[in-house]
Amino acid sequence: LSAIFEVNRSTVTTAIDELTSYGIVSGRHGAGTQISSNTWSLLLPDNSEWNSYLSSGFFQENKAIVQSINRLEFTENVIRIGTGEIDPRLFPRDMWKDILLKVSNRLTSLGYLENLGLSELRQAISNHLEKFGIYASPDNILITSGSLQALQLISVSLLKHGSTVYTEAPSYLKSLEMFQSAGMKLSGVPIDHQGLEYWKLSRNQDEHNALYTIPTNHNPTGITMSEDRRQDLMKYCNDNGLPIIEDGAYQELCYDGESPTTLKSLDENGMVIHLGTASKTLAPGLRIGWVVADKPIVDRLGDIKMQMDYGASSLSQWAMAEFLNSGVYDEYVDDLRKILKKRRDAALDNLTKYFSDIATWKKPTGGFYIWLTFNKKIKIEKLFEIAANAGILLNPGDIYDFKENRSLRLSFAYVSSSEFDQAIKRLSEIIKSKFL
Ligand code: PMP
Repeated sequence: LSAIFEVNRSTVTTAIDELTSYGIVSGRHGAGTQISSNTWSLLLPDNSEWNSYLSSGFFQENKAIVQSINRLEFTENVIRIGTGEIDPRLFPRDMWKDILLKVSNRLTSLGYLENLGLSELRQAISNHLEKFGIYASPDNILITSGSLQALQLISVSLLKHGSTVYTEAPSYLKSLEMFQSAGMKLSGVPIDHQGLEYWKLSRNQDEHNALYTIPTNHNPTGITMSEDRRQDLMKYCNDNGLPIIEDGAYQELCYDGESPTTLKSLDENGMVIHLGTASKTLAPGLRIGWVVADKPIVDRLGDIKMQMDYGASSLSQWAMAEFLNSGVYDEYVDDLRKILKKRRDAALDNLTKYFSDIATWKKPTGGFYIWLTFNKKIKIEKLFEIAANAGILLNPGDIYDFKENRSLRLSFAYVSSSEFDQAIKRLSEIIKSKFL
C-alpha cells in the first residue's frame, strides 16, 4: 500500500491496525493482509457471475464498526457493556419449559395463520395493552416478526420513497438503517431531559413524512419523555398533520413507578401507529412484535406482510399467547424489573466512582441504557478498538447518530453488576491513561 500511494509506512500500519480491529481486514503472519468483511465482492473469485451483484439491492450494508460489533458479540471472553439484550443467564428455563409443554399439548396444527396473526394472541395483546391506556380490538392489531419488521412494513407500504422521517437524534440504529434502506430521508431532532424538542423540527413539505419516536426509556439515551411533552407533542402533530410512529419497545420496563402514558392512549385522531415487542422483556429470539393502528392501516400492513413472509412464526405466536393468558408474563416482568432496577442502581454507582471527573450521564428511569458523554472530545473509534483488545465490547455513540459525537451507549441489562464494575473500572483506566 505504501508503495502504491506514497504515504508514510507508519500511516499504513496504523490504518491496517484500525481496519483489523473492526474486522474489515484480517492478517496472518507472513500471509499478508486480506479484506474480510464489507467488501465481500473482493473475496469472490474474479470469474463469479455474482461479483457485480453484491453491492446491488436497496439495503445498505452495515457500517464496518457495526459489523464488528455483530461479530464480537459472538466471541468468547468479552464483557458486553453496550448490548441491548437481557442477560442470557437470567433466562427463565423452568418457566419456558412449562409454557412450551402447555403449548405442545394444545397444538392441533402449525399451519399458516390469518393475515393479522393468531387471533388468540391478538386478543391477549389487546387485553395486555389496556395497562398502557390503549384500548384496541384484536382487529386493530397486527402481529409482526419483531418490531423492526413493523418498521419495514410501514416504510414499504405507507411511506413514500424519498419522504422524510423525523427521529430523535440520536435514535435506535437499526430503525435508522431500516428507514434509510427503504429510501427515506432522515432528519434528526434534538432531545432534552424531557424528550423530543419537537419545536426544533424543521418540517419540509413532503407529502408523506412521519415522526418516529421512542418516548419511553429511549434507545440509546435512556430518556423518558415527560407527560407535558407528550401532550404538547400530540398537539403539535395534530395541528401540523404529522403522523407518529411510536416505538414502545421499553414501555414496560420502568423502575421508578408507573409507566408513562403512551402517545397512542392520547391519540384521538388515529395519528399514532404504536409498536410493541416481546424482545426486550421476554426474548428477542421469539421474533414477536405488534402494530396497533386503525383497521385500514393494519389491514394494509398485514396484506404486505403476507407477501413478505406469510406471517410470524406460528409456534412463537402460540407461545406468546400462552405467556400472556396464563398470567406468567406479568409475574415474570415484575421480577425482571426488580433485577434490572438493581443493576441500574449499581451501574450508576460505578459511574459515579470512576467517571465523575471525565463524563456526564443522566439516570434513566427504566429500559437498559445509560448515555455517557465525555467532557472532552475523544476518539471514540480508537477507544472502541483499545477496549475490544482489552476484552470490553462498547457501543460507540456515533452509530446512533449520523454525526460524530463523544458518547457511549452503556447497557446494564446484559452483564452482571460485578462485570459492569470490572469493565467500567478498566475502561476509565484506559481513558485516563491513553485519551486525556
Ligand atoms: N425498537 C427499539 C427502540 C429497539 O431497541 C429494538 C431492539 N433493540 C427494536 C425496536 C427491535 O426489536 P425487535 O426485536 O422486536 O425487532
